[in-house]
Amino acid sequence: MTLRVGILGGTFDPIHFGHLRSAVEVREYLKLDELRLVPNATPPHRDRPGATAQQRLEMVCLATEFDDQLLVDDCELKRERPSYTVETLEALRAELGCEASLFLIVGWDAFCGLPGWYRWTSLLELASLVVLQRPEHDQELPEVLKDLLAARSVGDASAMNATHGEILCLAQTPLAISATHIRSLIGEGRSPRFLLPDSVLGYIETQGLYRPLT
Ligand code: ATP
Repeated sequence: MTLRVGILGGTFDPIHFGHLRSAVEVREYLKLDELRLVPNATPPHRDRPGATAQQRLEMVCLATEFDDQLLVDDCELKRERPSYTVETLEALRAELGCEASLFLIVGWDAFCGLPGWYRWTSLLELASLVVLQRPEHDQELPEVLKDLLAARSVGDASAMNATHGEILCLAQTPLAISATHIRSLIGEGRSPRFLLPDSVLGYIETQGLYRPLT
């Protein structure tokens, strides 16, 4: 049997139920053998995170500690350069071989920004893409991605059998949760409870993360 591995990269600043529920649903829908959550070190295409890399990693570990099919992969944090997804996929290919099926999972907002990613056209030579809907994000797709979707989309998971090169747009349970919203709630002294695991919220409180500077 071909190994089927999903990769959900992110800043996870902090990780929340939008990430976690999507991860579980994609894992079940695509019958993945494993799903790796990959925290970014120095995200090349966004502002500096509010928590350190180590803190973001610890929050991802806390969020997934009771689910042995959600793995945490800190490969990007060990690299002493910006986190380029294409290099993470190359490392995974080298680890798992050319027969494994790799699925790079991205939210709609991240997909819309794909043409800004380093060597983005190589991504589909290494993995297939799973694009998640995000209810609070409705950006228009750039033309180049409309063409890519027309050429590479498959209708449902059962048609997604290649080791790489296909795209599936997936309608999972829509959860309008973002890390930005969680950070701003905490910054305003309000509670983000039930938007993220209690263990992660406890960590944020203990570490004093995302509070306004006084
Ligand atoms: P921020 O608000 O700081 O930009 P975020 O909530 O978008 O953070 P990221 O760590 O940037 O979280 O997201 C990692 C990946 O998960 C991205 O591909 C993103 O689109 C996707 N994602 C984040 N939240 C959701 C959600 N609620 N539903 C589906 N996908 C999501």
